[in-house]
Amino acid sequence: MGMTMTQKILAAHAGLPAVKAGQLIRAKLDIVLGNDITSPVAIREFEKEGFTGVFDKSRVAMVMDHFTPNKDIKAAEQCLQCRTFAKRFDLDNFYDVGQMGVEHALLPEKGLVGAGDCIIGADSHTCTYGALGAFSTGVGSTDMAAGMATGETWFKVPEAIKVHLTGKLQPLVSGKDVILHLIGMIGVDGALYQSLEYCGEGVAALSMDDRLCIANMSIEAGAKNGIFPVDDITKAYLDGRTQRPYTVYEADPDADYVRTIEIDLSSIEPTVSFPHLPENAKPISQVEDIRIDQVIIGSCTNGRLEDMEVAAKLLEGKKVASHVRCIVMPATQEIFKTCSERGYLSTFIDAGCAVSTPTCGPCLGGHMGVMANGERCVATTNRNFVGRMGGITSEIYLASPAVAAASAIAGKIADPRGL
Ligand code: SF4
Repeated sequence: MGMTMTQKILAAHAGLPAVKAGQLIRAKLDIVLGNDITSPVAIREFEKEGFTGVFDKSRVAMVMDHFTPNKDIKAAEQCLQCRTFAKRFDLDNFYDVGQMGVEHALLPEKGLVGAGDCIIGADSHTCTYGALGAFSTGVGSTDMAAGMATGETWFKVPEAIKVHLTGKLQPLVSGKDVILHLIGMIGVDGALYQSLEYCGEGVAALSMDDRLCIANMSIEAGAKNGIFPVDDITKAYLDGRTQRPYTVYEADPDADYVRTIEIDLSSIEPTVSFPHLPENAKPISQVEDIRIDQVIIGSCTNGRLEDMEVAAKLLEGKKVASHVRCIVMPATQEIFKTCSERGYLSTFIDAGCAVSTPTCGPCLGGHMGVMANGERCVATTNRNFVGRMGGITSEIYLASPAVAAASAIAGKIADPRGL
């Protein structure tokens, strides 16, 4: 029996000729990641275990993104703890305010991720890097601590689901609609501890930003990881960024999949996931008038340049509805700067949006857009759990940047194709 793409990467990192689903392995790591919430816990564990060094100072990354610029004294203390650790071990990839972006947008942009890598991060959306043909997954802070010290961790090799993509997306439909549609099909536990391996001729029609968004939300179907084949689009993205040589892995023709899911991209409408689970996905044609109070455009899911571009094009010359607060957060400094150079920031401001420096901010109910009870938000983020963005009776509707921008203008959930 052949191996899936994920299994091949894991076998290579375990120094084994082959692995099979269910096998426990010890694998070498290319990158170990933490943020301002999870790293302090990992640092405590690291010190408690008596570790005296990191395995490779160029392969441990810490990004201060969740509660930064610091929202309160506790957040400031947590960042100070990370800063002190990074200085002590001379970490090459410590990203503080002024350099930081939302981690899963930042690491690929900075060239820290290569195809064929094995990456762990103390953050569940670490699975984003599968868009670049890497195996990457979220872990707890204790695993991060051991990973920082030893450069290794253990995995149970996952089974895989093949997601076969055909066709091409319609205008104003994006990767966000694809992943909401998929989670709507299989549910939030539809891929529990399995790999979602995307393939088929439809992949070529997806931009890198689409793929990063789809891989990012694979965890919302319970997946261990989501992964895309490496093609010319991937290579063009990597070649301008990463200094490290990378390895392209392909699934064997006889690889074992527990199931195959077929998706015709041309059949997907703009899609909205209703409260309080990402699986509550509905095509926009089935969404009736839902008045909203807030719109968030940003996050590790949809804070990239294409997301800003589509939002700016829709908001150009328009005004945000008077009862709506629209907050736009480019995910990294580079994206923020490009938005400035292209005039998108002026477009957002003229439309009545608040524009923020990169931060996770409201995505996890931290700051910069926490909601009162009873309020409703259309968000390009990835989770709409009870109370995720504020009061426990507030509601989050997950959608693409196009739907979010159209909704900000309309003051209710709206189809961007109708603007
Ligand atoms: Fe987590 Fe949201 Fe930050 Fe992404 S933007 S890393 S989901 S808090």
